[in-house]
Order: sequence, then C-alpha cells, then structure tokens
Amino acid sequence: MRYISTRGDAPALGFEDVLLTGLATDGGLYVPESLPHFSIEEIRSWRGLSYSELAFNVMHPFVDDAIPADDFRAMLEQTYKEFAHQAVAPLVQLDTNEWVMELFRGPTLAFKDFALQLLGRLLDYVLEKRKQHVVIMGATSGDTGSAAIEGCRRCEHVDIFILHPHERVSEVQRRQMTTVQGDNIHNIAVRGNFDDCQRMVKESFGDQSFLGGKTQLAAVNSINWARIMAQIVYYFHASLALGGPDRSLAFSVPTGNFGDIFAGYLAKKMGLPISQLVIATNRNDILHRFMSGNRYEQHQLEHTLSPSMDIMVSSNFERLLFDLHGRDGALVKDLLERAQQGPVSIEDYRWRHARKLFDSDAVDDKLTCDTIREVFERNEYLLDPHTAIGVRAARNCRRDPAVPMVTLGTAHPAKFPDAIAESGLSVKPELPVHMADLFDREERCSVLENDLSAVQAFIADHWKHA
Ligand SMILES: *Cc1c(COP(=O)(O)O)cnc(C)c1O
Repeated sequence: MRYISTRGDAPALGFEDVLLTGLATDGGLYVPESLPHFSIEEIRSWRGLSYSELAFNVMHPFVDDAIPADDFRAMLEQTYKEFAHQAVAPLVQLDTNEWVMELFRGPTLAFKDFALQLLGRLLDYVLEKRKQHVVIMGATSGDTGSAAIEGCRRCEHVDIFILHPHERVSEVQRRQMTTVQGDNIHNIAVRGNFDDCQRMVKESFGDQSFLGGKTQLAAVNSINWARIMAQIVYYFHASLALGGPDRSLAFSVPTGNFGDIFAGYLAKKMGLPISQLVIATNRNDILHRFMSGNRYEQHQLEHTLSPSMDIMVSSNFERLLFDLHGRDGALVKDLLERAQQGPVSIEDYRWRHARKLFDSDAVDDKLTCDTIREVFERNEYLLDPHTAIGVRAARNCRRDPAVPMVTLGTAHPAKFPDAIAESGLSVKPELPVHMADLFDREERCSVLENDLSAVQAFIADHWKHA
C-alpha cells in the first residue's frame, strides 16, 4: 500500500514511513492511494470474531507487507487485551434503535486509546527493525497526551515529551499524564496556553536542528495516518454486533479534528453499509457552519464543557476536502492557502456532495447538560459531555427511526466531573477500579517558561541517548 499527500506535491510513501512522518513535505496529510473494498459476503463471514481478529482483517491491507501477518496479529491481540471489557467496545442500548458504543474502556478512558495503544507498538516494531529512535513531541489540552503517554510507555525506541498548559488542564487529565512512570516519559507544563504549546510543537517539527541530527521527531496527533486506520475497525464492530452487514447503521460522532468521523466515512467507502454519518460539534462549530452554509471560516476559540472538541480548525478535514476535489492536490493546496486569509467556499456541486455524505449539528453547553440529565433520569446512564453532544445531535439529525443509530461514546464520565455537576445531577461519576488510586500516585512533571529555546533545550538534554 502506498500513501500520497493531500497537497499532491510530496513523495508517495509506504506504511513504515507514513507511520514515522508527521505532515508531508508539501504541508499535506497522507492518505492511502486506494482503499481496500470488502464485499458483503466477506464482512458477513467476520461475524463472531474477537475484536482483535476483526481489527486484523480490516487493517491488514493498509499495513500490507510492512509487518508479517503473525506479528501484526500478536500486536493487535496484546493491544486490545488491555481494555477493561471483554467486548473491547461494548454497545449500550438507550432506546429502540438508539445505542452508545463505549469506546472508553482503554487505559486512559477515552477512545484515543484504540489508536494510540496500537501506535506505540507499531512504532517500536518498525524502529527496532530499522535500528532507529524517535522523539515524540506533542501538545495536549487533555486526552491525547495521556493516551499517547500510556501508548508509548513501554517503547524501547521512543522518548515522549508532552506539553500541556500549566494549570489549565483538569486534575484528572493532568494526573493521567504525570503519574505514568518510565524514564522515556517527560511531561512539560508550559507557563502559557494551549496555543503556545501547539506553536512550539509546530515550530520544532519545522526545524529539528535542536536534536543535533541524532534522532527525529514523530507525530502522535491525528495527522498520523495510523490513528485513523485503527479507528475504522470499531465501525465494523458495531455493525456486526447489530445485525450488519445485512442492515445498515447510522453513526453520530462527537467531532473535533474530524479524525474519528473520517474513519467512519472510510469504513463506508470500504463497503460497510452505513446510511448516515452525523458530525456532532460543540460551539466550536466550523464544520457545522461549513456543512450548513458552505462557508469555511475560522472563529475565535470558545471554551466549553467538552474541552476535547475545542478547536478552531479541523486538521483532518483536509483529507475529506481531497476526496471532494477529485483527489486533486493542487486544488486542495490552493483552497487551504486561501482559507488562511479568510472565509472560503467550495463549488456548489462539491458541497452538495458533502451534504449527501454527512449531516451535522452544533450543541451548546446548556443542551449538553440537558442531555446528560435527561439520559440519566430515563436510563440511569451517565454520559460524558462529549458523548452527550453526540447523542443530542443523533436525536436532532436522525433520518430513519428504523435504522439503528450508534453514538460513539468517546470518554468516560469520570474524566469530566464538572459537566456532570453542571447538569444538576448529584451523582458523582466514579473512576474505574484500575484508576481508583489516581489521586494517590506520585506525579512527575517539569514546569518551563513559555519559551521555545527553553523547551527545545530541555528535550535535547533529556531524551534517552542525549
Ligand atoms: C479527541 C476527542 C474527540 C474528538 O475527536 P476527533 O477525532 O478530534 O474528531 C471527542 N471526544 C473526546 C473525549 C476526545 O478525546
């Protein structure tokens, strides 16, 4: 399998290189040159497989001969064994044809574990073979950082540095990052905001000379193709659990960077019967505004009760724009360069096509809280604020009540106790047993000034072989 850039002007790469690369050299994102397609008979024959066996069938074509089949199978087996539920991604019923797929049974209680637990293993496998080392540098406002740290803590060939804004992430989120032990794990609290952290990461990727040529940076955010790939699997899993592929399903996906829902779009293109995909955003609704009015325009960042979806632009949307433009990289490049200057639109027929593929909704904090309360009162089931946005959007956008609607449950409610309290419920979401002692664990973190050279000097000094 070869991978090409969405801006059409970077070399095509194989799986191993795509795994180790962030952005393409032309500023684009890598996508597979062509997608595998599975017939209904083939998908049907996967009924009854374990999650990791299913994952092998769905992902193997993307990995191809980069990893021998038996090694890849073993890696998947180990990855999904760590999830605290036998079904890995259990489905919970809320009402007739209304479901939540719980994607928060992994070690850090958010769906990002599905991809990052695998990514760490993939990186180490490829680096071992190549006798190479990488430094992962990432900025986080919450879930990505802890999932990446957890995914990489056993890696021999990876050092990971996660920047978070000092005193601006929730205590649960901070502790999930800072209490993981391992000498390849480095937490940096920057005296600045999330944008400062992100800018430092971006500039460091652009000029890696501070590493002295002895190692290189790798990306763990969802511009990394391997993350999208791992997320395709659970759409197949939901379908097979609910009578697919002989009936189609609808999905509602709480969306920030458009990674998770893009995976659903790919599952559909690969042959899975999906009749509806709902983009669910919070008040940071650039995608909803585009879908409803063909205007792609950056607004000020809003802080909401669903912080993992607080974004101004959605990086993976570029991957969809590439398809909407007939995979013409030059058109995408031009569009996104213009989008830097101000609002842009795409040709009407392309936008109409996008509207056929997706529905969308934006849900504010009040509606998020109403939904948490409503669902708890009717079902005694506690939603986290991100999942609540998905459930609300599903109810608003649903086209056919006879089709099962599955909302992706992206986080465990105990990660976001503030939203639960704000909903007026007096229940306190409990951390699962494997994390019950989180508040007693020892923290490790370095606080640094909001200064790029200070951060780079710290990294250059602290990676394993420095
Ligand atoms: C990251 C995250 C999202 C958004 O996912 P994208 O792939 O960026 O669209 C939604 N909910 C939770 C809990 C998250 O951590």
